[in-house]
Amino acid sequence: LPPRRDLTGADPRAVLKEVFGYDDFRGDQADIVAQVVGGGDAVVLMPTGGGKSITYQVPALVRPGTGLVVSPLIALMHDQVDALTANGVRAAYLNSTQTPAERAGVEQALLSGDLDLLYVAPERLSVAATTALLQRARLSVIAIDEAHCVSQWGHDFRPDYLALGDLDERFPGVPRMALTATATKATHKEITERLHLPAAKHFVASFDRPNIQYRIEPKADPRKQLVQFIRSVGDGATGIVYALSRKSVEQTAEYLRTQGVDALPYHAGLDAGLRARNQSRFLRDDGIVMVATIAFGMGIDKPDVRFVAHIDLPKSVEGYYQETGRAGRDGEPAVAWMAYGLGDVVQQRRLIDQSPGDRAYKMRMGQHLDAMLALCETVGCRRQNLLGYFGQASDRCGNCDTCLQPADTWDGLVPAQKLLSTIVRLQRERNQAFGAGHLVDILRGASTERIRQQGHDQLATYGLGADLTDQDWRSVIRQLLARGILVAQGEYGVLGIGEEGGAVLRGEAAVPLRRDVLGRTGGGSRVRK
Ligand code: ADP
Ligand code: ZN
Repeated sequence: LPPRRDLTGADPRAVLKEVFGYDDFRGDQADIVAQVVGGGDAVVLMPTGGGKSITYQVPALVRPGTGLVVSPLIALMHDQVDALTANGVRAAYLNSTQTPAERAGVEQALLSGDLDLLYVAPERLSVAATTALLQRARLSVIAIDEAHCVSQWGHDFRPDYLALGDLDERFPGVPRMALTATATKATHKEITERLHLPAAKHFVASFDRPNIQYRIEPKADPRKQLVQFIRSVGDGATGIVYALSRKSVEQTAEYLRTQGVDALPYHAGLDAGLRARNQSRFLRDDGIVMVATIAFGMGIDKPDVRFVAHIDLPKSVEGYYQETGRAGRDGEPAVAWMAYGLGDVVQQRRLIDQSPGDRAYKMRMGQHLDAMLALCETVGCRRQNLLGYFGQASDRCGNCDTCLQPADTWDGLVPAQKLLSTIVRLQRERNQAFGAGHLVDILRGASTERIRQQGHDQLATYGLGADLTDQDWRSVIRQLLARGILVAQGEYGVLGIGEEGGAVLRGEAAVPLRRDVLGRTGGGSRVRK
């Protein structure tokens, strides 16, 4: 441990400068630090790279005692502790990778008041002995990092987080912070409730990354598209290419090398030495393109990444946002590019169906996938859609593909009306509501057992939508959901008429739909009245 340095009661800004070498706080940092130094709780929603760490590290130094940081990323604890130690901060961690002797050393340092910061994995806090140990120490602040893991609706739920709801009872009087880079309204509410932070002050930073240009295109010849894209960014640009499987990582890296791109592979299955070498080359050299699974990037802080490319569809908008957020941290122009195909959707739906989760879990994962597809299929501004997903209203950005070159659309008014009127009839005539699958069956005139049993082949709209394929209808429904023309409700995702739906039923709203979406081969001409 570095030598003891007593900063208790020091001015936060002086600590920022002296310990971390930064001239000033940025964004909400100063206000968050003031809130916590004053003994209050805080809920902090800030995008990746926004500078969340400082907001608990500075209070931990300024307040008497040890700052406790709950973090699920054991792999990152080590790096963070190293970085802090290099700045002269007395930091340590407790996790399952340590020997009993190492752990005993850390515990001793904690009890002697020799630690400024202690990182622990959430599962350790479920162990009574850990609570007992921490109760014998003096805690300055408790920071719960990646707090969205408490959300059962989120993409990253961890049951251990649920046990963090009573930290105020276990450690009364210690200010608590919940921090996350996920900012949907629902997650925000869940964090506040489940981590029991009723009196917390809330800090919601803007999630916009104006220097990142968003581009999404359907897959045709993905490798060629990728190379073309990389060339369009410019020679020697540093970038990250995300792929879903290890095999695809290796093959893509190899292919890019044949095309003269300085590409390296990175995934958890590679030999540890090679992985470390590739990572340090990426960090040190200019112009490396890292082809990686999503295991790569957490905790990587390289400011001049000029592009992030996805050659497979991410599982959620949160994931997409986090991964694309690794581009352009220096504020200079950067591009987030993605190619997606029907195969991605089919594969992900299958993975969801085959997953061991319960019905509600599968429903949730399906909704994440649909939200991701809605972003892909929007005729509007990508950034507006993305920020809207995180609960932030914004204007058209002028810096995404759909803003720069409006999408080719077809008139979806008639199919939208057929669908809406099916929903209305079922509701009015039979007091029934259904999810997308059954509604599409009705519209396509399918002869399923459920349709026969319910007599839905007697509905006026039965078979009226047979001119569109199943995939077409799914895409229409996603786009209508994304625009508030439809709403999905409840655990089963039954479809209802959204706020914008009335105008569509009356034929008073235009419903332009993207032509270049999955499954659409013909376009508008196939929509017969
Ligand atoms: P987050 O946890 O929100 O993703 P970090 O805490 O890792 O973000 O910070 C992201 C980067 O910004 C780091 O390189 C960090 O050193 C830097 N940073 C944070 N606060 C400041 C500041 N006030 N001035 C300059 N750089 C900062
Ligand atoms: Zn835009």
